[in-house]
Amino acid sequence: MNAVETLTARHQKSAAHEIHQNLSIMPSLRTMIIGCVDPRVDPVFVLGLAPGEAAVIRNVGGRITPGALQEVAMLQEVARAHGARPGGRFDLIVLHHTDCGITALENHPDQLAGYFGIEQAALPTKAVGNPRAAVAVDVALLRSNPRLPRDWVVSGLVYDVHTGQVEVVVPPEAHTS
Ligand SMILES: [Zn+2]
Repeated sequence: MNAVETLTARHQKSAAHEIHQNLSIMPSLRTMIIGCVDPRVDPVFVLGLAPGEAAVIRNVGGRITPGALQEVAMLQEVARAHGARPGGRFDLIVLHHTDCGITALENHPDQLAGYFGIEQAALPTKAVGNPRAAVAVDVALLRSNPRLPRDWVVSGLVYDVHTGQVEVVVPPEAHTS
């Protein structure tokens, strides 16, 4: 079987098409997670997410890029369109991990600079290759973003793909702007 056949067959065996009909588009944990596309680091498994609990954005490295910020802004509009009222804690979790494939792109600074929307000379500020430093960089970027609602609480986690442990590198805190 090819991958599509395998996965649609699994779907038919699961109760997924029956049990999820009453879920809200609004995440029940009032949480959004930004993580990496790496197949080993799916937040469903790493953090035990249940259906409907969190919105998840995944990109290369789980980085806060202009594209990721655009998606966060779009999701805020979606929430407003669905009647979400401002106020109340909302968690934004940045989830990075060890052994990330983004380090392979350090030999392609043109691609990385374009991804982050910065000059190649500024790439060291993004700490590609050091997940603990990189997650701190990205949390700081979010906390200083004036467009992020004041009651959004940002944190930074690093998942070790070899030990299976998650470390809270940057504890949750409301953003600073
Ligand atoms: Zn990765």
